[in-house]
Amino acid sequence: MFKKVLIANRGEIAVRIIRACRDLGIRSAAVFSDADRGALHVRLADEAYHIGPPPSTESYLVIDKIIDVAKKSGAEAIHPGYGFLAENSKFGKACKDTGIVFIGPPPEAIEMMGDKMAARKAMLAANVSVVPGTEEPVEREDQAINIAKNIGFPILIKAAAGGGGKGMRIVAEEAEIKSGVRGARSEAKSAFGDDRIYIEKYLGRPRHIEIQVIADTHGNCVYLGERECSIQRRHQKVIEEAPSPLVDELMRKKMGEAAVAAAEAAGYVNAGTVEFLVDQEKNFYFLEVNTRLQVEHPVTEMITGIDLAVEQIRVAYGEKLSFAQEDIKIRGHAIECRIYAEDPSSGFLPSTGLLRGYREPSGPGIRVDSGVYEGAEISVYYDPMISKLLSYGIDRQQAVTRMLRALEEYRISGVANNIEFHKDILVHPEFAAGNLSTHFIDEYYRPAEEPISEIEEAAAVIAALTEHEARNKLTLSPLKKNITSPWKMSWRPGSEFNKK
Ligand code: ADP
Repeated sequence: MFKKVLIANRGEIAVRIIRACRDLGIRSAAVFSDADRGALHVRLADEAYHIGPPPSTESYLVIDKIIDVAKKSGAEAIHPGYGFLAENSKFGKACKDTGIVFIGPPPEAIEMMGDKMAARKAMLAANVSVVPGTEEPVEREDQAINIAKNIGFPILIKAAAGGGGKGMRIVAEEAEIKSGVRGARSEAKSAFGDDRIYIEKYLGRPRHIEIQVIADTHGNCVYLGERECSIQRRHQKVIEEAPSPLVDELMRKKMGEAAVAAAEAAGYVNAGTVEFLVDQEKNFYFLEVNTRLQVEHPVTEMITGIDLAVEQIRVAYGEKLSFAQEDIKIRGHAIECRIYAEDPSSGFLPSTGLLRGYREPSGPGIRVDSGVYEGAEISVYYDPMISKLLSYGIDRQQAVTRMLRALEEYRISGVANNIEFHKDILVHPEFAAGNLSTHFIDEYYRPAEEPISEIEEAAAVIAALTEHEARNKLTLSPLKKNITSPWKMSWRPGSEFNKK
């Protein structure tokens, strides 16, 4: 096995990989920017190397600096985590050229799967149905109009190099096409340095369901079930769960086999995720491939018992997968809530600063993957994710109950956070019923519009005091609190949102 692995990342995912290394008896080397001198991943790693100033373009994204540090440290392999250089095929090549193992797929597979249009072609060749749309870049606006008329409005203009929900424009009618094409193109150019765009049919109220695959260098490729990631805000995942409440055995097998066929056709090695959009009739359409470990990978780990980060390292070392398809058994249910330093009451504005008070929940069925500690800083330079809170239960109901308990226990002060927002989603009757779609938050969540009057504020203080007293007597269930939240109001009998 490798003796030392360099982790080219920060935050919770760096910590996650340090733990996998430790479980395998591998020394871990961390990298850090000036902003991360005191970060948890730096404290936990066996070694840590400074790579520059806080902006990631001058530190975590600089290939030469990472490669230099890898050489200096004597690491034989680099794990990129997710984000930063994880899906950069140039980085994969640079590792290869230096004789360092990149813990991920070969650069050619990253290149092909990372390009959404190339991936669509590969899927069609592997007989996997894709979201209706174009296979070639759309160059001109009149071309876009013809395509849109063919596939029917609404359409979605997307960046071939897209990611993180950037470079996407929904277009509902012909008159909006020109500005949509221009907008998507310029956003794609500035975000990815690549202005190629293409068009997809914009599906109404789809679910986002993805398949985890992992392949070794000996020709074995296995799917590890699905994750449902339909709870999204601005096309970004907020809550993920596994298994999906929609997917039955047969559908899992069909989606899993489609994902494996596609991975095999691309010569894929290591962990990857094949994402699909699913309509309410359970038809699934290929969306894109993520050629890395996903943020939401732990829900799959919890229901399969497989340590994905460990398997990634083992496969990169050249070992065979330690399981075959028939060994994969799904047991129980897992949920992940992405805990962010952001303020739901002011448009989800990121909230930066010191974590003055911080206590993570624990207890049966709870896992917290975080990269922070009390006194740490949520910096303006990086993604304001505080942690990933995970719950496991023997069924979905128990996983939800335990998640609510953990959210209630979680203590964060110093920065705003989205804990209450998560609670509101989890107790919503449509969530409980498993009726999910990517529009869930838009359809049910109404942020408070009116500024709070003095009388309301006084009422809120009294309510808080009463609740504090009640909580101290341990009589109040989490489900009954916070009844003035707009979420609760949206489904209470008689509410205007209930009439839809
Ligand atoms: P990115 O790579 O930027 O994350 P994706 O292609 O993975 O973009 O899409 C992200 C999300 O955007 C999906 O989960 C879904 O909610 C929405 N989306 C993307 N394509 C479509 C489509 N054709 N129809 C409806 N929603 C879509």
